[in-house]
Amino acid sequence: MFNVKEKNMNDDKGHLNFPHEGGGGNSRSDFHCEKSGRSRIVILGAGESGVGAAVLAKKEGLETFVSDASSIKSHYKALLDCHGISWEEGQHTEDLILFAHEVIKSPGIPKEAPIVQKIMAHGIPIISEIEFAGRYTDATMVCITGSNGKTTTTSLIYHIFKEAGLDVGLAGNIGQSLALQVATRDHKYYVVELSSFQLDNMYGFRANIAVMMNITPDHLDRYEGEMQNYVDAKFRILQNQTPEDAFVFWNDDPVIRRELRRYGIEARLCPFAIAKAQGLVAYTEDRYLCFEGAIDSEVPSFNMEQEELALTGEHNLYNSMAAGISAGLAGIRKEDIRRALATFGGVEHRLEKLGRVKGIEYINDSKATNVNSCWYALQSMTAPTVLILGGKDKGNDYAEIIPLVKEKCKALVYLGVHNEKLHDSFDSIGIPVADVQSMKAAVETATSMAVSGDTVLLSPCCASFDLFMSYEDRGRQFKQCVKEL
Ligand code: ADP
Repeated sequence: MFNVKEKNMNDDKGHLNFPHEGGGGNSRSDFHCEKSGRSRIVILGAGESGVGAAVLAKKEGLETFVSDASSIKSHYKALLDCHGISWEEGQHTEDLILFAHEVIKSPGIPKEAPIVQKIMAHGIPIISEIEFAGRYTDATMVCITGSNGKTTTTSLIYHIFKEAGLDVGLAGNIGQSLALQVATRDHKYYVVELSSFQLDNMYGFRANIAVMMNITPDHLDRYEGEMQNYVDAKFRILQNQTPEDAFVFWNDDPVIRRELRRYGIEARLCPFAIAKAQGLVAYTEDRYLCFEGAIDSEVPSFNMEQEELALTGEHNLYNSMAAGISAGLAGIRKEDIRRALATFGGVEHRLEKLGRVKGIEYINDSKATNVNSCWYALQSMTAPTVLILGGKDKGNDYAEIIPLVKEKCKALVYLGVHNEKLHDSFDSIGIPVADVQSMKAAVETATSMAVSGDTVLLSPCCASFDLFMSYEDRGRQFKQCVKEL
């Protein structure tokens, strides 16, 4: 399926010296530009994806150089050294970088970064690690994108494939990089979470099964404030698909439906939605999740009680439908899909149930960093809820969740350095509210506002960076404080 394409490369670009002043770097100098006839690859950013790409590039016989403007974690340095790969940290040496035939850029580096601008001005192609890795494997690619639900759906699909005994790797934003897996232990299938930033630099990659969960405004600061640019990046997941491939998508999303009309999509369409309608491959009816094998589709027909699903809440019905369809397309039997949808252990920090203390249930949804994901969390609450929310506000409009807060919440705990906007948005509802500035205080205060039978939910609507290092740090602190109750 994937061919290693011959590049039109000019090998006659002069001679480079490896840097030994200024920033750090290893002492090897195999990234020279003598007329070796080998393609020269520069990797910008030495995180999981960059280091994986470097290992693969080296294995494929390419001249490889890794450059990171920050410091590189010691275990990544060790991995690079162990493969004899040249690297530098704390700087970008232009003389080395601008002689590349191709640059693999970490999705975290914006295109406005000066070094990226210079690479573009030199006409050097910039690709993503996934694009690069895709050239060196014939595996079937199941790729998941969307604004919310990517990690959950990707992990769920991986779980179903694994439980069905398939040789499958998990990649993208989760776990080990695709490139490292392709280099060290290639699989028959990969389930790949793709952010819009990864899709930005993908051109020849083909997703055999492309899954699009939803599109709501996000990361617009990286897309010139233009929603359409972000939407276009997401739709790159469909480029290169053929009639043998499949496109699984949420049919009720207005943006996806609008875009479908604009694109001449070649892949088999596999829409899912909450309510039964003509042409849907999955939907809900009464208490059931229904999969309907379309005539030309391998998706098996079967029903499953929603009660049996491991993941609760409406958003997880969508995630379960997308995962079940993808598994069916890969030929997994309905008994195996049903069993795996019922046994999935969930993903940390996403509506993660921590158990009960003195009859109060604690749920960690620290990954709810925007209002939309908190909406889905609240919607799935079945007991009176004390909601802990707040943090670094990304221009939130809380109006969307006010009806649900009124319906589901008995008290609110504002956890943040600046809680003024929360007071302005919610105090008028008339339920008890409290201000706190540490997780310990948040958990103790929320507990004091709850009684046996209630739920304490951390679903902050906000980024974590005012009081925590990351949403993972925030979620871990929450879990620790609950453990200490
Ligand atoms: P992503 O990887 O796209 O950020 P996650 O699976 O990590 O998505 O979920 C992030 C948050 O979004 C969670 O807090 C969860 O409650 C919410 N969420 C999960 N799936 C969906 C969905 N299909 N639609 C809307 N929100 C969702």
